[in-house]
Amino acid sequence: MTQHTDVVVIGGGQAGLAAGYHLRRQGLDFTVLDADPAPGGSWQHMWDSLHLFSPAAYSSLPGWLMPAQAGETYPDAGHVVDYLTDYEKRYGLSVQHGTRVEAVRRDGERLLVDADTGRWRARAVISATGTWSRPFVPAIPGRSLFAGRQLHTVDYRSSADFAGQRVIVVGGGNSGAQIAADLALDGRVEVTWVTQRPPQFLADDIDGRALFDVATARRRALEEGRTDTGGVASLGDIVAVPPVRAARDAALLTAKPVFSQLTPGGVRWADGSEADVDTVIWCTGFRPALSHLAPLNLRGAHGRIPTDGTRAVGEPRLHLLGYGDWTGPASATLIGVGRPARDAARALTALLR
Ligand code: FAD
Repeated sequence: MTQHTDVVVIGGGQAGLAAGYHLRRQGLDFTVLDADPAPGGSWQHMWDSLHLFSPAAYSSLPGWLMPAQAGETYPDAGHVVDYLTDYEKRYGLSVQHGTRVEAVRRDGERLLVDADTGRWRARAVISATGTWSRPFVPAIPGRSLFAGRQLHTVDYRSSADFAGQRVIVVGGGNSGAQIAADLALDGRVEVTWVTQRPPQFLADDIDGRALFDVATARRRALEEGRTDTGGVASLGDIVAVPPVRAARDAALLTAKPVFSQLTPGGVRWADGSEADVDTVIWCTGFRPALSHLAPLNLRGAHGRIPTDGTRAVGEPRLHLLGYGDWTGPASATLIGVGRPARDAARALTALLR
């Protein structure tokens, strides 16, 4: 049976919930469809020791400050899941969990949203499917020859799984630094951390709030037609959260350049030196999960859909939220997604009324 609504929001992580909050405020009829069987988006899949890089109050969705977590300045992933679960209930967003959207198609004045549990006919769609389901691993020679185990950030849960192993962590971003630190502090894992560029650590007294300030400064500069954004941080910098700081201060977190190829038993660097390795963990980022939008033929460069703000340039009834800065500065962070969500809800209200 086909169901009818004004707006289908695809994805019930933080971006989908922020969209729901603002659609509700605008008085639009909407449905949120989410592939995960439980609330929390990608936070429910992150590793055990992960902590946010900003305090709770600076990690909040629109309308309701995230409560502080007892005994923690930087809340853990479980606390974020609890917050998102309560947020869903607080605003009556009635997310349909366990519903994966397979395709969105044009059907005259409506968009048809086909999911594994049914079909929706909508006047507009907000896609907020994140990147967690599309881990990216670079093409490095020998990857298929390597006889050991290869994982991505999305597969990592705990250092205990690697006790007694020689592990290479690839990637100079926050995930790579945090996972390398987690393994190094365990004491039972022989860790090598490799990064494309020397890792850039933020000063210890600066946390994720500085990254948000950078994004805000960029947005303002764009709005005012300026190119100077200033700021103390760049978005690629590593926040020295307590475990990263502890590992760095104990000289356990020194990075080497990335190897040039994998061998059956390990890795080889460009200078010919080699290391035996049991496991490679690729902390090499993500791509936007957009395959459900393929029938709309909107793809541009780098697998992205060209947008004007959050609106798809080639389909004004479609907005994209989260994913990265190309859908709004800091829109892939908890505190940053509120503003683009509000803009998308306002734009759709203007379009549909
Ligand atoms: P997700 O949380 O991935 O949610 C997407 C939802 O869409 C999921 O529930 C999924 O099931 C669903 N979905 C996917 N495909 C479909 C489909 N076809 N049909 C239906 N549903 C679908 N941000 C901060 O603000 N502070 C931090 O400290 C911070 N730390 C981070 C640490 C790590 C390791 C990572 C990876 C990210 C971190 N971020 C942080 C960034 C950001 O907050 C997350 O990436 C965030 O989870 C993105 O939210 P989202 O709602 O866009 O996507």
